[in-house]
Amino acid sequence: MSRRPTPMTMTECTVEKADFLGWTSEELVTYVSGLGMKPFRGRQIYQWIYRHGVDTFAQMTTLSKSDRSMLQRMAGFEKPEMVERLTSSDGTEKFLFRLADGHRVEGVMIPDQNRRTLCVSTQVGCGMNCRFCCTGRSDLVRNLRVSEIVGQALVVQATRLDERPLSHIVLMGMGEPLANYEATVQTVRILLDLWGFNFSGRKITLSTCGLVPGIARLAGEGLGINLAISLNAADDATRNRLMPINEKYPLGKLMNTLRRFPLPERRRLTFEYVLIRGVNDSQKDAAGLARLLRGIPCKINLIPFNPVPGSPYEAPSRDRIEAFQDLLIGEKYTALLRESRGGDIAAACGQLRERLEHGG
Ligand code: SAH
Repeated sequence: MSRRPTPMTMTECTVEKADFLGWTSEELVTYVSGLGMKPFRGRQIYQWIYRHGVDTFAQMTTLSKSDRSMLQRMAGFEKPEMVERLTSSDGTEKFLFRLADGHRVEGVMIPDQNRRTLCVSTQVGCGMNCRFCCTGRSDLVRNLRVSEIVGQALVVQATRLDERPLSHIVLMGMGEPLANYEATVQTVRILLDLWGFNFSGRKITLSTCGLVPGIARLAGEGLGINLAISLNAADDATRNRLMPINEKYPLGKLMNTLRRFPLPERRRLTFEYVLIRGVNDSQKDAAGLARLLRGIPCKINLIPFNPVPGSPYEAPSRDRIEAFQDLLIGEKYTALLRESRGGDIAAACGQLRERLEHGG
């Protein structure tokens, strides 16, 4: 039986607008060419969005009025809304972003003598359940869209047009980037885009808890970015205890995949190791770590556990932290101690959102 088409109502006619923040300049060029515009207009629009930080098509004054109103009807580039901005006494800034559906994610900007590093989130919540992590407590709510990840950088960039631009981006905020694989890789392509942010791959770091298939796939993308692995333990028993994902992808598998990861010349992997009192901070743990990483071009970032309200864990004593670092240095590793920053504004990932949503 054939069904007669019913007349469409206005709402049924509404097609979703093209989301320009999800695209590389090449993709934007293809799109505007399809609308009958000259290809260079696509690059121009890209520059308006990323270099000049405009919020509306009306502000793109190099485009004709008719092109602007056509784009207005068919496309958008809506950024997340910054609803909180806290500045720590050490200069660290924390941002809370509200997404179109009301969910909130965090970003942290860490200034240094010659760097301005922005840490962005890739998911609302996180499904990895690492025991020491504040975000891990809230479970995964949903993946972020490309525009919601890129948008965090754009919004922060726009708040500082008067100051030095962002120099580094780390995909190290809330969420597991490789569990939101496509959006993460597309975000990186946009950050690398010559007509937009134009970051070099050396200035972008993706941090993962060790999703082996994702790492193997990333190896084939040719992005040239840095890879950081949150290791946190050098033996499976301890790592299983801290990071449930280790049961699925144990250290043997993880290290095999990492040893095959193609590194650009003179580039090294980063291993992050959160030091927790009495759990992974002994000399035996340090020696195990030195053994595990032998032969891998790498540096090790030691991060004293940042207290999470209600957590049973604590940071080790200063002496114990330094002894751990000294052993690694003695074994010829680059082992840096990452001082906790932004403590007065709850800058550790997940803390601000948690405090605001659960009053913790
Ligand atoms: N899912 C990714 C990125 C988010 S976690 C990953 O696992 O790498 C970012 C970093 O914060 C990780 O290295 C993690 O080990 C660290 N981290 C999480 N909670 C912490 C805490 N309470 N104190 C110190 N570092 C913490």
